[in-house]
Amino acid sequence: MKKQFILSIDQGTTSTRAILFNHQGQDVFMAQREVFCLFPRSGWVEQDALSLWVSVIDVINEVLVKANVTMDDIDSIGITNQRETTVVWDKKSGLPVYNAIVWQSRQSSSICDKFEKDKKLIHQKTGLLINPYFSASKIRFILDHIPNGQKRAEKGELMFGTIDSWLLYKMSKGALHMSDITNASRTMLFNINTHEWDTDLCRLFNIPMIMLPKVKPSSYDYGVASFFPGEVHIHGVAGDQQAALFGQTCFNKGECKNTYGTGCFMLMNTGDEPVYSKNGLLTTIAWQIKDKITYALEGSVFIGGAIVQWCRDEMKLISSAAQSEEEAYKCHSSHGVYVVPAFVGLGTPYWDDEARGAVFGLTRSTNKHHFVRACLEGIAYQCKDVYDIMRKECHIDSSFNSLKVDGGATVNKYLMQFQADILPANIYVPSCLQLTALGAAYLAGLSSGFFKDLHEVSAIHCIKERYTPTLTKTEINKLYRGWKNAVKATQAFKRI
Ligand code: ADP
Repeated sequence: MKKQFILSIDQGTTSTRAILFNHQGQDVFMAQREVFCLFPRSGWVEQDALSLWVSVIDVINEVLVKANVTMDDIDSIGITNQRETTVVWDKKSGLPVYNAIVWQSRQSSSICDKFEKDKKLIHQKTGLLINPYFSASKIRFILDHIPNGQKRAEKGELMFGTIDSWLLYKMSKGALHMSDITNASRTMLFNINTHEWDTDLCRLFNIPMIMLPKVKPSSYDYGVASFFPGEVHIHGVAGDQQAALFGQTCFNKGECKNTYGTGCFMLMNTGDEPVYSKNGLLTTIAWQIKDKITYALEGSVFIGGAIVQWCRDEMKLISSAAQSEEEAYKCHSSHGVYVVPAFVGLGTPYWDDEARGAVFGLTRSTNKHHFVRACLEGIAYQCKDVYDIMRKECHIDSSFNSLKVDGGATVNKYLMQFQADILPANIYVPSCLQLTALGAAYLAGLSSGFFKDLHEVSAIHCIKERYTPTLTKTEINKLYRGWKNAVKATQAFKRI
C-alpha cells in the first residue's frame, strides 16, 4: 500500500523544521525548534553540531506525534539544510571536534586572503568567488585550531561534512558518509565541470581527501535512516536555495525564483551547462537527478526584509512588519524618495563593501508613508539589478518574464506589486510557503516513486497569488534611472 507522507527535514540557521507532505504536495503537519548561534568573537558565528542533530530528532518525534502516525506511515525522507556550514567530527566517537562554523562566519577571512591570487582558477573550477562563506577555508581553520588536526585528518581519523552529511551520518548511525552534489558545490573543493572533488583545490587548501564525503545525486536512495524505527530511506538531499528552486518547480532553463527573507536569494535555472558570470553571480549546481545535472546562477541582496525590521526596531516608523504595507498604501507614490539599503555594502552587481545606506529626494512634504514605501521599493530595485544581470548573462528572451517568489516578505502585497511593475514580470506566489522543505520532499518523492515524474510534480504544484505588471516602459525607465542615480551617488559618497 502507498504510504501517506514524505518527511522533510529543513535544518536552517535559526530553526529546524520537520514537515509531513502528502501526495498532493501539501504541508499537512509541521514541528519546529529554534536553534542557536554562538558568537565567540566579533564576526565569528558557530553552532553546536550536536544540538542541531538533537533538534532534528525532536522535530521528527513531534511531527509524528502531531500527525498521530509512526515511521511506518512515512514513504521516505528528504533533507534540506543551511549551506556551507562546516562540521568536522571524529570517526571513532562520532563526535564533533570543533563547533560547526556557520556560513556567515568571517573567522577564516585571513585564510581566504592567501588565495586571492588563485581566484581565477577557483572560479573556473567551482563557480564560486573566494570568500570565507564557503567551506574550504572553514575546514582549514578547524584543522589549524585543534590539536594535531592536520595529522589526524591525514590518518583518516577525522570526517568533514556540511550539515546534510552530518545529518546523514547521524541518521544512519554512522553508516553513511555522503553529501549531495548541491551541497558539495558550495565547499570550494568540488569541481562543477568534472563533478568530482578537485585534487588541485584540496592540495591548495591542504585538505586530505580522505576526510571528504562521497558525493551523490540530489534525488537518490541514500540508505536507511536506521537511528529511527522502521526501514525508512532517505531519498532526497539538497542545499536550501537549490531546494527552494526545485520546490518552485523552476525545472526549465530561464526559470527563476527569489526568496525574500532577511536578505534575498535569487537563483535561475541555466540548464545543463554552467554559465560563468562576469558580474559576480555564483555558478552552482541546482540539482542532479539520475545522471542529469542542472546548473543555476545565484545572486544575493544583503538587505531585503531586514530594512523592514530596521524601520520597525531602529527608526520606530512602524510597529510591525505588516504595517509597512499599510504605510505604503497611504500615499500614491514615494514622492521621488529613494532609499538605498547599503547597510553592509552593496552586492551584485556593484560589489562595493565600502558603500553605506543613503536616502535621496527628501522634500519639506516627505512623510513617513513615502519613506516606508521607498524602503520597500529599495528591496525591489536591488532584486531588479540582480534579475536583469542574470537574464542578460543567460541570454534569456525578453518575452519570457516570470519570477516565482517565496520567503517572509512575500506577504507584502505592495512590495510584490511594485516588484512585478519594475521588473517587469509576472510574479507567482505558491500556496505552500515551506518551499525549501517542499523541494526536498519533491526530490525524495521522485526517487522513491511517491511522485511519478516531473509532470506530476508540476501538475500538483499550486499557485496562490499572481501579480502582473501595470507600468509602461517609459514609467519603468524613469523610476529605474532614479534608482541608478541614487546608487551612483551612494557609491560616490566616501565616509571620512
Ligand atoms: P529568514 O529565513 O531570513 O529569517 P523569513 O523568510 O522568515 O526570513 O522572512 C523574514 C523577513 O521578512 C524579515 O526580515 C521581515 O522583516 C520580513 N517581513 C515579514 N513580514 C513582512 C511584511 N508584511 N512586509 C514586509 N516584510 C516582511
